[in-house]
Amino acid sequence: MIEQPKLTIDFLIDILFKRNLISAEHRSSVLARYKSQEARLAAGPQFAGRRMHRGGEMPSPAQVLASFNLETPGGNGRILSEDAITESLAAYLNIPYLKIDPLRLDLDVVTSYIPRPFALKHLIVPVEARDGELAIAVADPFNDQVLQEFSTAHRIKVRRILSSCSDIQKLLREFFGFRASLAAAENESSVNIDLGNLEQLFKLKGENEPEGTDRHIIMAVDFLLSYAFDQRASDIHIEPKRDKCLVRFRLDGMLHNIHLLPKQLHAPIVSRIKILSRMDLAEKRRPQDGRIKTSHNSKEVELRVSTVPTAFGEKVVIRIFDPDILFQELDSIGFYAREYALFNSFIHRPNGIMLVTGPTGSGKTTTLYSTLRTLSSPEVNIVTIEDPIEMVMEEFNQIAVQQAIGVTFGNILRTILRQDPDIIMVGEVRDKETADNAVQAALTGHLVLSTLHTNDAPSSIARLLDLGVPSYLISATVIGIIAQRLLRRICPMCKVSRRLSHEECKYLQLTEEATVFEGEGCKECRGTGYKGRTGIFEILEINDRIKGLITENLDLGDVVRAAEQDGFASLRKLAVRKMLEGVTTYDEVVSITG
Ligand SMILES: [Zn+2]
Repeated sequence: MIEQPKLTIDFLIDILFKRNLISAEHRSSVLARYKSQEARLAAGPQFAGRRMHRGGEMPSPAQVLASFNLETPGGNGRILSEDAITESLAAYLNIPYLKIDPLRLDLDVVTSYIPRPFALKHLIVPVEARDGELAIAVADPFNDQVLQEFSTAHRIKVRRILSSCSDIQKLLREFFGFRASLAAAENESSVNIDLGNLEQLFKLKGENEPEGTDRHIIMAVDFLLSYAFDQRASDIHIEPKRDKCLVRFRLDGMLHNIHLLPKQLHAPIVSRIKILSRMDLAEKRRPQDGRIKTSHNSKEVELRVSTVPTAFGEKVVIRIFDPDILFQELDSIGFYAREYALFNSFIHRPNGIMLVTGPTGSGKTTTLYSTLRTLSSPEVNIVTIEDPIEMVMEEFNQIAVQQAIGVTFGNILRTILRQDPDIIMVGEVRDKETADNAVQAALTGHLVLSTLHTNDAPSSIARLLDLGVPSYLISATVIGIIAQRLLRRICPMCKVSRRLSHEECKYLQLTEEATVFEGEGCKECRGTGYKGRTGIFEILEINDRIKGLITENLDLGDVVRAAEQDGFASLRKLAVRKMLEGVTTYDEVVSITG
């Protein structure tokens, strides 16, 4: 009898090397790093005697290998992922590979054959039952004995499929929990109805759905929120359709379908969210706004919730304010050196106005909040005027605009000047009163940060003139204007290179041929080819050269030409630079700065 092979790191590295997914030098260096890590873990008392990759407490060899973020040979910076490793192992062993998509799984199949603790212990999960045969996804292809025993005990034919350890763990731990809670809630309510018990139906007042206080619904909403945090979603949309409830997440600026749920779960889920955000439960015909303060991975996350009645019920949008996204180190949000130096010089001036411009969703709030956090200290009084307050922060004094009762940007600004602020952040300059008061604040020794709705930095000067600010006051107070955009980053897991065509080069005014990169689309990036975003910052410094051009007869062309003498780089130019560096794609450059 041939001895059963074991899924060890050596075995895996050998296969990856044979399949040209790992280079010769990585092959030996990784092995050494792994051995030292393994020795360290084995030495710890809590791991003594524990098996390496069965219990789920210890990472599997594929997870460890993936954690090294190795570049594949000739892969143009493509990173060796756990999925790629697992897929390669499956191909080598001639076993079908499955990337687990929880949306496509049948809950009954996943839950009814194998108890969860057993499944977690052996990292196996049933994924399909057909024609008297059960397909079971396994993380360890050599863990045959468990499947054989299972097959004998249950008298069912078993087919083995290989999936990544992370996918199986995730399915069993998180997503599984969400689906199970929903199913339980759904079952309990339908039990009531199926009984045909008139008295119970009467008690339910004709409602065939569980309540928002049902413990399964509470758990399901908790799972949904934490899943959104894990995915770094910026928004959750819960939309009633005619006979379904659609849950979508906004990831890197794009909406993705996440769940399609039975319609009777829509109302209780919405109720639960309304309870959490302290809205009026009974009010279903008017839009409402609320907030939820919660925590994730021991940090506070703020959610802004809004409901709107639609033809099929209340639609809920939850905007997620993740402090890790809103507050970032200024040197990590995408600035190039020249722009970073200018930006820093603006925010450290004692007085003047700095404007950030760009459309909604271009990252202005992150830039401003991160700046305030940088400037915040016990000696400085920071006041913000926002509509509405994006995220409540104790170290700032935040005031919310309330248009309905006449509390506007303009009149709050006038009032707070008496409150001795040092730095003032005004959510947006959108009228003459606000503009005038911002100018006053700057003239009386305050640093004012604000936003404007313009497409680029130079045209902000024209916008201020349109608002009625005299040109000499613009020259006297505005110190710098930043126009910004967010560009999607290419997914490192499916990055490929290509030559730009002659037409494309011409369109971007590139004089020589260029190689660019793009994502082919993989499971890691949900087929989009992108993962994460970075900022580009067009900065116009209002120096003496520019001041001389700010007149009532402003010529924006003159302003741009003058700025270029000082090294001004437009959004387009900055985006092209990110593209040539392999950070983003040609398509993204065209769509964001087109
Ligand atoms: Zn990808």
